[in-house]
Amino acid sequence: MDTKINLLDLSLDELRGFIAELREPRFRAEQVWQWMWQKGVSDFEEMSNVSKALRGKLAEHAVIRPPTIDTVRESDDGTVKFLLRLADGALIETVLLPSRTHYTQCLSTQVGCAMGCAFCSTGTMGLARNLAHSEICGQVLLGRKWLEQKNSQDKGERSLRNLVFMGMGEPLMNYDTLVKSLHTLRDDKAFGFSSRRMTVSTAGVPGRMTELVTSGLARLAVSLHAPTQELRERIMPRAARMHPLPALMEELKKLPLRPQERTTFEYILIGGLNDTQQHARELVRLLSHVRAKINLIACNPAKDSPFAAPTMEAIEAFQQVLRDKGLVAMLRKSKGQDIEAACGQLVTQKQKEQAR
Ligand code: SF4
Repeated sequence: MDTKINLLDLSLDELRGFIAELREPRFRAEQVWQWMWQKGVSDFEEMSNVSKALRGKLAEHAVIRPPTIDTVRESDDGTVKFLLRLADGALIETVLLPSRTHYTQCLSTQVGCAMGCAFCSTGTMGLARNLAHSEICGQVLLGRKWLEQKNSQDKGERSLRNLVFMGMGEPLMNYDTLVKSLHTLRDDKAFGFSSRRMTVSTAGVPGRMTELVTSGLARLAVSLHAPTQELRERIMPRAARMHPLPALMEELKKLPLRPQERTTFEYILIGGLNDTQQHARELVRLLSHVRAKINLIACNPAKDSPFAAPTMEAIEAFQQVLRDKGLVAMLRKSKGQDIEAACGQLVTQKQKEQAR
């Protein structure tokens, strides 16, 4: 068994401690940190400003091991989905979503998910484990590197600008590692993402939303998907029971938002289930005491899903009800439908293939 420490699992402070244990000066930690995260180097021999003696000690006691790419699928619309293999063989997904000027990367935080949302392939897997710091930030390392290579081939300039924690897993159920990862992603000597460009999407974990907003590390998005407790329990049963709608809304009302800041609500429109004008009116009432921005997403059902995509008429009518009441409501397009880009679809497909 490999007993070497994976340096990608350490925070900068922890790396300083490790370097001190090797009896090396403190500034060496910053150098190694920059090589790993800023330059994406995983071979100690490439760390040209690190002394030969330290490179030798590092090779003896440590490794730099990000996840590896198992499969890459590119969609006709430019969406790129990666199936990543972790050191224990587990599979996770990360997706690059293009816009005209830049890319947004969607990140996973757990292997599987305990929340069991009925519309989500990941929800059918159950929770296997939380992701480690190396596995969360490692997704960004791989996404950024892939884009750099693509840009150099195509002479393109669209870089990775935004991160959304909207992939496999409930980020706030892996809270400590999420926070540690956000610090690394924000660090100028690592990735340098601004907090305004990182969004954590949650189904609602009591107390954790307030903690995250108070930390100022990232923006918050809440997956709502239903305007009533009863309907929410049908669509996202465990999340709805863990933080019932009245308590969830109470917590959201008291969030310490900055002036002009709004909480984003994600609402997946599912054909015939939560997409009527009556549901839209109930949603308006529910959100009447919070500063809200609503992202409407048309359901992109997996092949064997019991759910249906909404009609365009239903989507437009729903959006109009919200807008008529002065709510900011954007329609987000489902991207990468031809490559199973919705959360968990590629992993479940691969698991089925392996079981055959
Ligand atoms: Fe988990 Fe998110 Fe899927 Fe719900 S939608 S089961 S919270 S991964």
